[in-house]
Amino acid sequence: MSDNKTAIIIGAGIGGIATAVKLARNGFRVKVYEKNDAPGGRCGQIIRDGHRFDIGATIYLMPSIYKEVFESLGLKIEESFTAKPLPVIYKLYFADGDVIDFTTDKGRMQSQLETLEPGSYKRLQNYVSNGYSLFQIALKNLLGRNFYSIFDFINLKNIRLFIKMKTYIRHHIYIRRFFKHPHLKVAFTFQNIYVGQNPFTAPALFSMLPAAELSEGSLFPVGGMYSIVEKLVSTARNLGVEFYFNKSVEKIVVNKNKAEKIILEDETEVQADIIVANADLPYVYRELLPDKRKSARLDRLNYSCSAIVFHWGLDKKYDVLGHHCVFISEKYHESIDKIFDVNLMSDKPCFYVHAPVNSDPSAAPEGQDTISIIVPVGNIDNKKVQDWDMLKDKARSYIIERLKKQGMKDIDEHIKFEICHLPKSFNTILNVSKGSVFGSISHSIFQMGYFRPHNQHSRYRNLYFVGGSTHPGNGVPLVLLSSKLTSERIIKNTKGLS
Ligand SMILES: Cc1cc2nc3c(=O)[nH]c(=O)nc-3n(C[C@H](O)[C@H](O)[C@H](O)COP(=O)(O)OP(=O)(O)OC[C@H]3O[C@@H](n4cnc5c(N)ncnc54)[C@H](O)[C@@H]3O)c2cc1C
Repeated sequence: MSDNKTAIIIGAGIGGIATAVKLARNGFRVKVYEKNDAPGGRCGQIIRDGHRFDIGATIYLMPSIYKEVFESLGLKIEESFTAKPLPVIYKLYFADGDVIDFTTDKGRMQSQLETLEPGSYKRLQNYVSNGYSLFQIALKNLLGRNFYSIFDFINLKNIRLFIKMKTYIRHHIYIRRFFKHPHLKVAFTFQNIYVGQNPFTAPALFSMLPAAELSEGSLFPVGGMYSIVEKLVSTARNLGVEFYFNKSVEKIVVNKNKAEKIILEDETEVQADIIVANADLPYVYRELLPDKRKSARLDRLNYSCSAIVFHWGLDKKYDVLGHHCVFISEKYHESIDKIFDVNLMSDKPCFYVHAPVNSDPSAAPEGQDTISIIVPVGNIDNKKVQDWDMLKDKARSYIIERLKKQGMKDIDEHIKFEICHLPKSFNTILNVSKGSVFGSISHSIFQMGYFRPHNQHSRYRNLYFVGGSTHPGNGVPLVLLSSKLTSERIIKNTKGLS
């Protein structure tokens, strides 16, 4: 126990709140400073006129990781919030009219696959079991542990593991061993975009994403992903954690090898033994710390893609969509290239729709609907002309055209209101560098493990990081793991210190 030690956490994102719980349980007096008026960050929520939207995260991936991290915080996941299974994890809508239910129902999966490509179901089973064992190897050796030195990461055993983890082969080449039909190749590789990765260049290691979905299934938290945030915040408060909202941290004051205090926007100064930055890591180096050389180095790394997000409150209820829907464009390859090669958006982008009301009626007033649409786009690139308002209008028209074709024929007449977030909004509202919401730093193999920015500052040893841009990576499950790893490091480092 670290009685009397004080910790400041900068940011009340899921990573910051989970860390606050763990540190408070271990005797730290914890204060959390958040720039916005509510917790959650990219896992926050918006409520307007009875419509409830998840700001970012909607898909509850990898339930085993949630369970593990909640247990490490002294919480039983099944008692923390209500989560219901989604037998159809998502519906995939192809531009030629084909629809694939991406489902844990084996019989349904078999009949769909065999119709598209005879013999492919057996190969899917191999793909999933290989992918799931990659997930377990990666979790044990790459994602779920702290690296204390380069030799923990680069050694003979791990080189063998990297080969086993298929880090040397591209996912889109690897998938050809299993499927010929273009829809199937897309259906089992597009998930790279979840972590802001290009499906055409990402390593086959990422086959662990669809494999984990099909092996562990998917749940949805009743009340939205924000119910996870609410549980963590109430647990933290019960442990004495103090939250301060609308308190933007403007500076971390350092002295020799120590981070001494933070300075808030209103010039208040707060000291602590430990400072944990949950705000996006490259932003912290750039804006809050004095080391400009390190910040310039971080700036040169690869960043994940960004997104244009529409939240629509509808005055009519539609029954045609699944809870999670993915619309694949007729120009799939081009649409991916536009995002990752030129930091823009195709005229016909792929997009995702979250339509929770049929499974969770509390998301909209009775007889009405609530949908959110996420369009992956390039990240903010100051060397390019990026007319986000024009791209937003293009995306909107294409989305409406596709939704009309899918049976929502009068959708444009029933949008009561729209809230739209552009890459620049994620930058200004949440301080996510380049608006790269699925990172920010991307998950190429040379930016993972020991190569990812570390969760402890190399000079100011009482300054730690937690969240999507440090180890192990982005997405709620990995950010929860990040909080576990960062807390473990802090507790290990402070053990025995008075
Ligand atoms: C559109 C979108 C869709 C997504 N979909 C999914 C999904 O389906 N499933 C999934 O698992 N993940 C998804 N994600 C990713 C997931 O939301 C993030 O990985 C996760 O929420 C990041 O948590 P975090 O704690 O690292 O950071 P953040 O949520 O960014 O939290 C950081 C906090 O720090 C605060 N802050 C910043 N600067 C300061 C400052 N100077 N002072 C004080 N506070 C500050 C911010 O306001 C913010 O609250 C999605 C993200 C987006 C944006």
